[in-house]
Amino acid sequence: AVMASEKEAALAATPSDSPTIFDKIISKEIPSTVVFEDDKVLAFRDITPQGPVHILLIPKVRDGLTGLSKAEERHIDILGRLLYTAKLVAKQEGLAEGFRIVINDGPQGCQSVYHIHVHLIGGRQMNWPPG
Ligand code: C5P
Repeated sequence: AVMASEKEAALAATPSDSPTIFDKIISKEIPSTVVFEDDKVLAFRDITPQGPVHILLIPKVRDGLTGLSKAEERHIDILGRLLYTAKLVAKQEGLAEGFRIVINDGPQGCQSVYHIHVHLIGGRQMNWPPG
């Protein structure tokens, strides 16, 4: 079904441990525009960009990290790596004037894919508070 909005998609999504669309993006079964990749992290352009630059950074192995609220001590390294990689990609994308990092969590946080991901959004002036 076509979702009218990201919020609708988030409210329709069921928080679960089931495989997500991101597994197919990691395996390249579904094409994506990869902007950075190493053995642990994949960064690719969001298909519904919320700015001139909108990149998602995800761990290649989910390891139970469906969302930030499920983080355990064993995830500390990958969480740090996701943020550090976001900084590298921001530089690679030329976001010298700044950028926004977002991690949506759960229905109220508007999370629609239950494989943790860091949004890197930039290339325009951001506002606060977010919607
Ligand atoms: O934080 P949230 O779970 O809402 O973010 C999921 C993001 O994944 C959305 O921004 C959506 O556009 C993106 N997406 C994507 N490619 C897909 C499915 C979702 O870039 N095939």
